[in-house]
Amino acid sequence: MDDCLQANIGHIGRRGGGKPIHLPLAACARGLVSTSSFLSYTMHMEQSLSLSGLASLVHACDRCQRLRAWCETAQGQQARYRDQPYWGKPVAGFGDQNARIVIIGLAPGRHGANRTGRPFTGDAAGGWLYDALFRYGFANSSSSIAMNDGLTLRDVYITNLVRCAPPGDKPSRDEIDACQTFLHQELTLLPRSEGVLTLGRVAFEGYIRWLQEMGEGLKKRPVFEHGRVYRFDRNKRWLLASYHCSQRNTRSGRLTPPMWNQIFEQLGRLVSAKNDGEMASEMAKKE
Ligand code: SF4
Repeated sequence: MDDCLQANIGHIGRRGGGKPIHLPLAACARGLVSTSSFLSYTMHMEQSLSLSGLASLVHACDRCQRLRAWCETAQGQQARYRDQPYWGKPVAGFGDQNARIVIIGLAPGRHGANRTGRPFTGDAAGGWLYDALFRYGFANSSSSIAMNDGLTLRDVYITNLVRCAPPGDKPSRDEIDACQTFLHQELTLLPRSEGVLTLGRVAFEGYIRWLQEMGEGLKKRPVFEHGRVYRFDRNKRWLLASYHCSQRNTRSGRLTPPMWNQIFEQLGRLVSAKNDGEMASEMAKKE
C-alpha cells in the first residue's frame, strides 16, 4: 500500500484474484474525477475493491482543503504530544473484516485519531469506547494508544462519517457529503454486517441517508434517541442510536457509565437475537 501511495497510484483490488489493479489516485483525490464516480466505476467494473484498497483512497484524499489543513497543523499544539509525530491525514476504518457490528462515529479527534492514525485511538472518547468493547468481549484489550499497540477487535468494525478531524468537531454539510462516499463503500465491503451502532446525531443521520440510497423505503423518518433501536426490512439490518462518547458528553453527564453499559448490553442482545433466529431456522429446516 505504501509503495502505491508513494507512486501516487491506488491499489484498489485484484482482478479475478490475479494482478493488483492500480488506478491514478491523483485523478480522484484532486477532483479530476469525483470520488463517488471513481468508486462507482471501480465497483461496477471489478466488484473487487478491498477494505485495504479503500483505505489507500482515504489516506490520499484531499477533497476538503479546510479539513486537510486542520489535520496537518495539529502537531505541536498540545504540550503532552509535542514530541510525537502526527498522522495528520484522513483516518480509515479499523476492525474485524467479518464484523457483524459496525460502529460509526463522527470524525477523528484532532489529538486522538488524527495523531495516531486509527479511529478512537489516543483520546478520552476512545478510552470509553475500547473499555466497553473489552468488557463486553469485542476487543482483546481496553487500551488503545497507538496503531501498533496490538489491539484487535472481534465482530466489530469502527469507522467515522467524516475521515478528517474538523475544527470544533463540526464538519460542514459539504464536507460530510464529500466524505460520505467512503462510508457507503465501506458498508458494502463488510458483507457480514448485520447492524450499526451510531454515535451521535450526525452519524445517525448519515447512516439513514445511506439506507435511503440503498433503497430502504422509510415510511416515517427515524428520530435520533439514545438507546433506540430501529429495524429495516429491505436491508435486514438494525440500527442502535447512542450519544457520542465524546469528552463533552461524558464530562457533562449527558452520557453516563450506566447509559453507556446499557448500549453494549443492547448490542449483545441484538447480535445474539439474530443468532438465535438463525439457529431456530436451521433446526426447523432439519426437522
Ligand atoms: S473529510 Fe473525507 S472527503 Fe474530505 S478530505 Fe478528508 S477523507 Fe477526503
